[in-house]
Amino acid sequence: MRKETLLTHIGCHPKDHRGVVNLPVYRGSTILFNNLAEFEAAESGTYPSPIYGRYGTRSVTELEEAMAKLEGADYGIVTSSGMAAIAVGLMAYLSTGDHLLMVDNTYGSCRKFCDGELKRFGVEVEYYDPLIGAGIKDLIKENTKVVYVESPGSLTIEMQDVPAIAKEAHARGCVVMGDNTWGTQLYYDSFAHGIDISISSMTKYVSGHSDLVMGLITCKKQHYPKLINCFRHTGSSPSADACYLAMRGLRTMAVRLKQHQENALKLAHWLKGREEVEEVFYPALPGAPGHDIWKRDFTGACGLFSFALKEGYSHDGLAAMLDNLDGFGMGYSWGGYESLLTPVMLGSYRTATKWPYKGYTLRIHVGLEDPNDLIDDLSRGFDRLKAAS
Ligand SMILES: *Cc1c(COP(=O)(O)O)cnc(C)c1O
Repeated sequence: MRKETLLTHIGCHPKDHRGVVNLPVYRGSTILFNNLAEFEAAESGTYPSPIYGRYGTRSVTELEEAMAKLEGADYGIVTSSGMAAIAVGLMAYLSTGDHLLMVDNTYGSCRKFCDGELKRFGVEVEYYDPLIGAGIKDLIKENTKVVYVESPGSLTIEMQDVPAIAKEAHARGCVVMGDNTWGTQLYYDSFAHGIDISISSMTKYVSGHSDLVMGLITCKKQHYPKLINCFRHTGSSPSADACYLAMRGLRTMAVRLKQHQENALKLAHWLKGREEVEEVFYPALPGAPGHDIWKRDFTGACGLFSFALKEGYSHDGLAAMLDNLDGFGMGYSWGGYESLLTPVMLGSYRTATKWPYKGYTLRIHVGLEDPNDLIDDLSRGFDRLKAAS
């Protein structure tokens, strides 16, 4: 089955539920055993299905199987948030004295986890230039255990040469972890590009409706035991109700993403032609930074990208632009049906490299509105930017 078809079949078992199309919500903490033999099997780890709510009810395990299938993995682990997936992935593979190579433009909270928790536990964290490519080999040390990629990266959307990085990392015995939230299970094949452990925030396009926080780890068979143990010990499980919403989001994920991409491309083209704009960082836009890598490695693009304004606009101008938009909200997260526009505040989020653009950088999530309305709204915003600067 192709992925579009898969999305309409996975997790549906009408025969088990008197013909009802969708899987009911299995809320549960206690799961009862029929006899002592079953209880003893649970204690010794040989019981064939989940033994306790935190290990997942059917609401969770069906979603995990669905996500693994979609991403071409052997196993999926659904977590309470994207951050829980990142934390579990890193904790499962790093110990005191180990060295982690983390991409400099990683998701902000991931950086905070590395600088806060991992360093406190004695892990050596080193940030590297997202555009390093095969040059990563010069940074890999005897104790480097994990090389972490995120392509494109958060906020500044640099495309990484993941196959080149993975090749050098694997040659030196490192595990490659990658954040696939932007590419999604539909547009980027993590495993074909050398990623061993793929991590996603399902909060974004799997949910698609800004009503859910959830994460995902997918992997091939050899990595599952370490990950599942760390996941269970940290108690990072999702709720059954959240899993139901995620499964519901999956049904329309392919059509939503197509529309996000079409709208985003239209806005990216328009922005590129505006005199106020210095550069547009939408990898699917011909001529944009990283377009060649996107064309080589991805089969589609989502609705999230950034653009840099020319130098010289004032903070008052920026406020006049952003405070009075009708079609864009200003808030965290992305991947919902609605459009968002936020300033990019790099602050302390970058240490290995310097963002070269001097004007304000803005991050846009293009939703499912008619793009012409979004363009009109932005156009009025640019007028206010110029008038108040
Ligand atoms: C949102 C996000 C995360 C974290 O996901 P949560 O579900 O919010 O915990 C991780 N990586 C990327 C790229 C994200 O955008």
